[in-house]
Amino acid sequence: MEVQFSVEGRHLALHFIPDEEDLLREGTQRIANLSAHVELVKKAEIGDIHPDHLALIGILLSHPFVANQLELGVSVSERFREGISTIRRYAVCFETQRVEPYVATEGSRPGLAFSGGVDSAAALLLMPETTVPVFLDRPQQESKRTLYDKSAAYACLDEVERLGWHVVRSSCDLEFLRSPVGFPTDMATAVPLLANANLLNLDSTAYGTIMESAYRVGHAKSRQYMTSAHHRLWGPAFHGAGLPLNLPVAGLSEVMTTKIVMHSELHETARSCIRGAFPKTCENCWKCFRKALVERRHRGSRVTNKEMQRWMQVREVQAKLSAHPISHENVLAWALQGDNIESGVKDELLARTEGQIRDMAPFERWLGGASAALHEPYREHTIQRIASFCTPMLPEEEQALIAHEMSNWLTSEAAQRALKSFTGAYL
Ligand SMILES: [Zn+2]
Repeated sequence: MEVQFSVEGRHLALHFIPDEEDLLREGTQRIANLSAHVELVKKAEIGDIHPDHLALIGILLSHPFVANQLELGVSVSERFREGISTIRRYAVCFETQRVEPYVATEGSRPGLAFSGGVDSAAALLLMPETTVPVFLDRPQQESKRTLYDKSAAYACLDEVERLGWHVVRSSCDLEFLRSPVGFPTDMATAVPLLANANLLNLDSTAYGTIMESAYRVGHAKSRQYMTSAHHRLWGPAFHGAGLPLNLPVAGLSEVMTTKIVMHSELHETARSCIRGAFPKTCENCWKCFRKALVERRHRGSRVTNKEMQRWMQVREVQAKLSAHPISHENVLAWALQGDNIESGVKDELLARTEGQIRDMAPFERWLGGASAALHEPYREHTIQRIASFCTPMLPEEEQALIAHEMSNWLTSEAAQRALKSFTGAYL
């Protein structure tokens, strides 16, 4: 694969030239478009974007499609070259001129890949006031009917702007590079941030990655994020580009990001559900179901069995509840362990989850080991902000959570019986 870069006016364009081997490569996604565009904050030239940032963008967008070799038509710094030495699956080639590494200048600011959802809003609220949230504005595909409604995300951006943050909205069509449509790598949401980093004098790259994704809690098997293949690959690559990773909510569960946003001025507008035209909410999907239950438990507000029965009629909720384990099961189980929900459906649903035998209270606390994923100059600030919402887990709680496996529970007689009886009654 060869990647070429060009800038015209306010647009960075990437052109991808795949080899035959790339096109033959098997995988869950295939390359569907040979170009992508990123909007810049002002008219620029190719020299206004640091070549290390161009190279990182090229890697983030082509990574799953490259078979043997990736040729990036730029020269990069030695630091960046070292940073990506953990990529072993294919060879990465650059031009050979000498390049100084990117160093943000005095007065630099932290960047955040911002979606307008609850998790990235919580990250923003834990970061310094100077943080620049950068929104990847995906162009609407006119030919296709979709449930994706951007009005809530736009309302959230307007609110963030009104509250004083410098918000950047960058139109970017990178999700159409692949089929099925989506991000080629999970880190690609920061591509507009990387493209504008030098123009905005940014010094780090934050994501709203929560504990459920970083440590895989709520999955069949948790992991130690800090030594995971994901962190070992991308950590050095972003460091090499002079925009180190910063993950303010990696040590927090969705239980806590929901609470942080609930207690902020972003409560009305930050939403993870992408359906429903703002200010109307959809209340008809899996995300809205989880959010409703988690918020109600935090507030201690009563949920009737009739409401629970209504949720059980929602098709997407039914589909998600048929999985074993259920996705984000720890979050759902935490919400169901509250005494604010009337008996009935709640008991049968709780019996369906590991919450039947496990106390979910640690998810109200912070996993302190995640402080290693905070960018050093902002670490103290973020830790203090977190401490205003919750206490850290005890070391033994932290270890147990990282080493946790659900397999014993999932195959137990109690879990199998509950699965059968719940499926029979509601699905
Ligand atoms: Zn919804």
